[in-house]
This record gives sequence, C-alpha cells and structure tokens, in this order.
Amino acid sequence: MNALEREIRSLIETQGPIPISRYMALCLAHPEYGYYTTRDPFGTDGDFTTAPEISQMFGELIGIWCAEAWRLMGSPARVALVEAGPGRGTLMKDALRAAKVMPGFLNAAELHLVETSPVLQERQRENLRGAVPAIAWHGETKTLPDIPLLVIGNEFIDALPIDQFEKKAGRWHERKIGLGADGGFAFGLDPAPLPDFEQQLPERLTPAPNGAVFERRDLTPISEVVSRIGKHGGAAILIDYGHAESGFGDTLQAVSGHDYAEPLDTPGEVDLTSQVDFEALAALSRNNVRAVGAVSQRNFLTQLGIEARTEILQRNAKEEMRDEIGTALTRLIGPTPGMGELFKALAFAHRDLPALPGFDGAKISGKDL
Ligand code: SAH
Repeated sequence: MNALEREIRSLIETQGPIPISRYMALCLAHPEYGYYTTRDPFGTDGDFTTAPEISQMFGELIGIWCAEAWRLMGSPARVALVEAGPGRGTLMKDALRAAKVMPGFLNAAELHLVETSPVLQERQRENLRGAVPAIAWHGETKTLPDIPLLVIGNEFIDALPIDQFEKKAGRWHERKIGLGADGGFAFGLDPAPLPDFEQQLPERLTPAPNGAVFERRDLTPISEVVSRIGKHGGAAILIDYGHAESGFGDTLQAVSGHDYAEPLDTPGEVDLTSQVDFEALAALSRNNVRAVGAVSQRNFLTQLGIEARTEILQRNAKEEMRDEIGTALTRLIGPTPGMGELFKALAFAHRDLPALPGFDGAKISGKDL
C-alpha cells in the first residue's frame, strides 16, 4: 500500500466515503504524493503522449492562432499570453517560435503559466529558457494580471476533478469512494437522494433512465478566465478530449504506461482524467463573452492549415523523417485511434473580437450576441 493510499484510507475511516472530486484532487495534486506533483508523465517512456509532444505543428498552429487573435483585438500594447497546465512547456516553445511571424506580437506578450506541479514548473523553465524575457508562474487563474489576455489550455480541463451522480430506483445519488468488502477502495452510492438533481440536467436528457451516470466538473479555473476576458478583452482556446453535447456515462479513466489502469488502484501513481462536457463548458459564456464551438480537432487544425504545414516540413526534412511527419499528422487529425474526432476545440472570445481562425461554421453560444 502506498503512502497516499494510507492517507485516503484513514480519511475515509474518519469521515466516511469521499466525493470522487476529492479523490481525484488528492491523486493528481497532493502536495507530496500527487501524480503531477511528483513526476513528468509525458512521452514514450512515460504514461501518455499529448498533441504537442506528437508534433511541433500543434504548438506552432496554436501560436499563430494567438498572434492572429491579438491582431484581431487591435494589437494591444500589452497582452498576457497564458497557458493553463503547460506540461513540459513544449506547446508554448513551438507557439512562441511560430508567433515570430506576427510583427509586434512577442513584444506585447507577457508570458504567464498556470501550473501547480513544481516538477513540471522546472521542466517549463528549462524548456523555455531564452524564449521570452520573463515568465510568471501562477497556482491558479485568479492571480493573472488585469490586462487583455490570450489563454491556451490543452488537456488541462480533463484533469480538473469531477463528481459523478447515478440514478437508481427513480432517485439520483452521488457516487462516492469508500471501502469495499475486501478492504480496498470501492465506488458506492451515497444513501441520501438528491431530489433536485434531475431539474439541473439539460431538458433533452430527462426523464433519465435508471442506471444513468452524470458527471459534473468544477470549472472555476475556466470561469475565472471567461470573466477576465469579459473585463479586459481577449480570447481563450481550449482543446481536450470529450463530447460536444452533455450525455450520460462514466468516463473516469486511469492511464499508466500508455495503457488503461484501474482508477482506484495505486492512487497518485496513475493519471486520472475524464471526458470534457463541451456543452457544460460553452455554458460559461456570458454577456460579453461568446463560446465558439466545439469543433473537432481535425476541423480546427485543418482550417489552420496543418496539411500545408506538413508538406513544408516534409519537403525540408531528411528522407527518413518524412514518414514520421505524415504519421504525426494522422495521429493529430485522423479518426480513432487518432485524436481528430474525440478531441475538440472550443474558444471563448470577447464580443469585440470578430470571427476567430479555425472556427468557420462553428456553433456560437452566448447571451445578447
Ligand atoms: N498541456 C500539456 C499538459 C497536459 S497534462 C500538454 O498538452 O502536453 C495537465 C497539465 O495540467 C499538467 O501540466 C498538470 O500539472 C497541470 N494541472 C493539472 N491540474 C491543474 C490545476 N488545477 N491547476 C494548474 N495546473 C494543473
């Protein structure tokens, strides 16, 4: 039994079963034993690979998206370029290199990274050394500066803790984590029913069948970003795996060594995520900030010109590298097992910003727009 398992077990013994969000937060971000606190999980030797680690093209296109958004904002003299959950800093490094094509953008941009893991902060520092004059780190989005902002988040939201609720015999209950008959961690339903729960679901999903599981995520870090965009101007580009519309299903997932693992085994040693509900995310739009999308990662990257970029890279690459670049393109925009359909992009933009690159034909939500 690892140290975190002992700690969670004693928590359950004293308090009773705990919400899934509590378990997830402890597993990912415990100050001593959390998954991200203690390691760099990315790459072939690690547990999983993300889009910016697959190909430099991903970060480059996001960099150009930001530079173009800045131009559309009227090229303000100062803009906070923010990344939430930057991992190794690879996306930002590629983005900054590519954004040099936009005159003035890098002079206006001040780099702010929102990262809780000290290990990853160190990786980001090494990786971005020399790329910009200064980097400020933040533990949360609340402390960002009060200036216009451009925010990037790739596979950030999937790591924010969720809660789950299940309908049984006509009533909704919270799913919690307690101790099972064999003494190990086990999922169970809180006996107290939640009489108002079904009213909070999108109407189209009601009446829900028995056995339905609904996931709800605390999106505070993102609603803070949206409110800052409303006050100071700017935009956010958020990319993640998930579903365009709210629905039922248990999507809590553990990954270790590029394979699925059990979410309740070896806490703090496996990655825990769940699918992003893009309908719930878009609902954060408010008076002067609209949500655009979600669109598939394939549509987003294709509209930004990833195919042309692939050809240029291949032309300039050594013969033996050309196939690898083509394979990376397929992984990024191809159907499952590629990321093209499952992964989606959603933007928030201040009402003063006209149509954003990558979102032609996308759904727009927001009041008074
Ligand atoms: N964007 C990177 C990494 C994705 S993994 C990539 O695409 O490769 C999730 C990242 O979010 C990690 O850097 C992790 O440490 C960070 N993170 C997770 N929860 C966080 C939180 N609540 N606040 C700040 N950073 C968080």
